Amino acid sequence: MGKSSKDKRDVYYRLAKEEGWRARSAYKLLQIDETFNILKGVKRAVDLCAAPGSWSQVLARKLDPANDSEAKIVAVDLQAMAPLPGVVQIQGDITKASTAQEIVSHFRGQYADLVVCDGAPDVTGLHDIDEYIQSQLLLSAVNITTHVLKKGGTFVAKIFRGKEVSLLYSQLRIFFGRVTIVKPRSSRNSSIEAFALCEDYNPPYNYVPNMLNPLLENSAVEWGLMNEVNSFIVPFMACGDLSAFDSDTTYPLTIGGKYERKDPVQMPLSPPYEEALSLVTKLGDVHIQRNDDGSSAI
Ligand code: SAM
Repeated sequence: MGKSSKDKRDVYYRLAKEEGWRARSAYKLLQIDETFNILKGVKRAVDLCAAPGSWSQVLARKLDPANDSEAKIVAVDLQAMAPLPGVVQIQGDITKASTAQEIVSHFRGQYADLVVCDGAPDVTGLHDIDEYIQSQLLLSAVNITTHVLKKGGTFVAKIFRGKEVSLLYSQLRIFFGRVTIVKPRSSRNSSIEAFALCEDYNPPYNYVPNMLNPLLENSAVEWGLMNEVNSFIVPFMACGDLSAFDSDTTYPLTIGGKYERKDPVQMPLSPPYEEALSLVTKLGDVHIQRNDDGSSAI
């Protein structure tokens, strides 16, 4: 393949180089902002999974920390990233509580107006696994976001629109007033990639951010803290005395004293097998056995 073939195939790849963006993904954030104005009025922003840094470049151009002393951008990635003027970099894992603490420390007690996450795990090529890992990364991104985002703030994150995506939407709706799935022009149509634009951060009453329980999936201990969240879950509870008879066990007839067969309290008035029975009895020498529940067998 010639050196220029990717340039020919992918206009955004070529444009990114021409316009000085580190990756073609810059256009995805630019186009989301173009339509939804997510960067308007933002002073503090966090770029999760930021390397090589094109989203951080977009944030830096829009927030302009060089000329605005209030503007602050913190970028996090597992990988080292070449320095970017006006962007504080943390080489760290977004699934770690220590990373959340480090981000907050850069905002000097304040919370972010915006958190963006273009995170992607290394793809395996096995769609189900890739989709699952992507959704877990998204849950980690939401989790760390609950430590750093101000109430009313905005969160934008890459998602894969797979089978489980409606569950993800519902989970995001627990934390955000508005969730919209957006697909920028620069995101290939052939890709299941899209972006969850989550506005108006509003965590459940009494929600305590932690890193152990992405989107409330596992730990029962925390449920007590999350009153509103509970209403999204249909409880499944066992009831009755544990020493009562087990309906799946076969017990001997003599249990509880001498066995005496009794008719059902109410025989069926017009059972569906009645006609069949009458036909069979006309055939003559047939033995019909009446069962305890009122049904019959031949
Ligand atoms: N938005 C970036 C840009 O515009 O340059 C591109 C991001 S790239 C598609 C995905 C990044 O996610 C990779 O750099 C990868 O290291 C990072 N990543 C994946 N899992 C991560 C994790 N647990 N913590 C931090 N970064 C992670």
